[in-house]
Amino acid sequence: METANLKRLLKQHFGYDEFRPGQEEIISNALAGRHGLVVMPTGGGKSLCYQLPALATGGLTLVVSPLIALMKDQVDGLRANGIAAEFLNSSLDNATAAAVERRALAGDVNLLYVAPERVSMPGFRRFLHTLDLRLIAIDEAHCISEWGHDFRPDYRTLSELRTEFPGTPVMALTATATERVRRDIVEQLALDNCRQFISGFDRSNLTYRVQPRQAAWESLVGLLDERRGQSAIVYCFSRNETEELAERLTARGHPAVAYHAGLDADTRRLTQERFIDGDVPIVAATIAFGMGIDKPDIRLVVHYALPKSIEGYYQETGRAGRDGLPSDCVLFFSEGDRAKQEYFIQQMTGDARESAERQLQKMVEYGRLGTCRRKYLLAYFGEAMAGDSCGNCDVCLAEREAVDVTVVAQKLLSAVIRTGERFGIAHVNNVLLGSKAQRILELGHDQLSVYGIVNDYDRNALRDIANGLVERGLLARADGEYPTISVTGAGREWLRSRASLTLELRADQATPQRQPTLGRRAVEADYDMGLFERLRALRRRLADDEGVPAFVVFSDATLRGLAAAKPTGPQAMLRVSGVGPAKLERYGEAFLAAIREFDGQVPVKV
Ligand code: ADP
Ligand code: ZN
Repeated sequence: METANLKRLLKQHFGYDEFRPGQEEIISNALAGRHGLVVMPTGGGKSLCYQLPALATGGLTLVVSPLIALMKDQVDGLRANGIAAEFLNSSLDNATAAAVERRALAGDVNLLYVAPERVSMPGFRRFLHTLDLRLIAIDEAHCISEWGHDFRPDYRTLSELRTEFPGTPVMALTATATERVRRDIVEQLALDNCRQFISGFDRSNLTYRVQPRQAAWESLVGLLDERRGQSAIVYCFSRNETEELAERLTARGHPAVAYHAGLDADTRRLTQERFIDGDVPIVAATIAFGMGIDKPDIRLVVHYALPKSIEGYYQETGRAGRDGLPSDCVLFFSEGDRAKQEYFIQQMTGDARESAERQLQKMVEYGRLGTCRRKYLLAYFGEAMAGDSCGNCDVCLAEREAVDVTVVAQKLLSAVIRTGERFGIAHVNNVLLGSKAQRILELGHDQLSVYGIVNDYDRNALRDIANGLVERGLLARADGEYPTISVTGAGREWLRSRASLTLELRADQATPQRQPTLGRRAVEADYDMGLFERLRALRRRLADDEGVPAFVVFSDATLRGLAAAKPTGPQAMLRVSGVGPAKLERYGEAFLAAIREFDGQVPVKV
């Protein structure tokens, strides 16, 4: 199908004007009858990759997804766009399921969502043979691999689907897949001549921040104050902490509920639903929360405790900003947090323990980082970032001020030399700060003349200074697993010269007492905020009337588009991204009226 036609379908059914990167190629590949493996970060727009081909080819597209809790929302969302979608899973009673099957037989179902266990039933596969099956989409495809983080035995039976429908193209989709998992997916599903579409891991709309753990509570309240009424997840260390925090937040005027695996199934389901529907904006949760969360407008993900691994952290923060709008990921961190996790690691044995140690170490490194956080995260997943600054993490965004660091830099270089240039910066800082860590005592580093000679800078500032010295070429950091620090020739030269040195230090760290602020968000919005709030309320009401989550009506991005464009008629409204004919017909009048009314109330500027 030609590009123009695909775009027409995109606007007509989804209201979007442009494809996201990768989507069009993936769609064309499927329409040409070829298999495809799609690796795209969360929020990248994977669903559209099989939904559009389903519309273009007609017949039936089978969507296999393990997330039963999501199916209804997804199907509601498609229906709101006028697409014939249905789902079959264990939540339906027999009569309803039979009715869905009848509609499918009659050719009235374009997209059919099912859970993998249904596919493993021979009866269901026989039923599939009676349908006009054109495409098989397999969501969360990494579940098929034991090498992935989320193996599901049910996924293995999908290979039978392949044997029984050898001619039907398959599209396998996932947000996380290492090379090994990708190979596994292709082999397990016997996807010969499969094209792989791998988009980068970068989530450019997410701002990564680390803030000191010491002031976590007040900082958290501050973050939530800035985002009143918006959705946020706060990941906690323990079940107790989720409940305590939810209570405290509610008392502080931020309605929050707790979520953890210790709650009964009904409470958990209800909590999820209330969050997804936007009834409660904040969930304080353990990591048990999230697998079933496909909410596009989560603006903030906070880690109130240190995560166990970068993988986990990336997945959890990945739940923020799926709609592509700016969102924040804040980790509260202190050196001491490590101990809590260590306690659990001590009880493990062998390889598991070693691997847990390594993963935790990586996470601690992330917390301590004085260089771009995004670059570090991407490097972890094997992706190189161009340049050294992303411009969208606390390190890159920090205001900097010129500070004369001559004396402390001399101390730093001396300490590196005295300890034999065999240690990382954390150890050198421990020496300078006079730490009583066991390792220091064992090595006798408390006996060195440089022990405890810094008291005007804290650990973060020292790290920042060390990074500055590396950048200036006075210190060198070894690559690899043990980034030991050594003094370069230029560094020795500088020490001898007794020249002074000025570095641009982070203003929020040069004086540790000062609270970091989130000034950047104060930028002026290019849409009418008052109108936006009005439209949000309208969306809430319409969604409640129909018993669907708010984003099924319109996404936040679309509401902003409406509040910016203020369309006065149907044609103008159609030009707003996210508004297609189906939604125009359904909601157009209500929104146009609200916009007219709002404009009528606003005093005319002269
Ligand atoms: P994923 O499954 O990759 O996490 P989704 O399929 O849920 O992501 O898409 C994330 C969001 O992006 C959804 O709100 C979706 O409607 C939106 N989206 C997808 N494709 C486009 C597009 N071409 N233009 C604008 N928004 C899009
Ligand atoms: Zn950065």
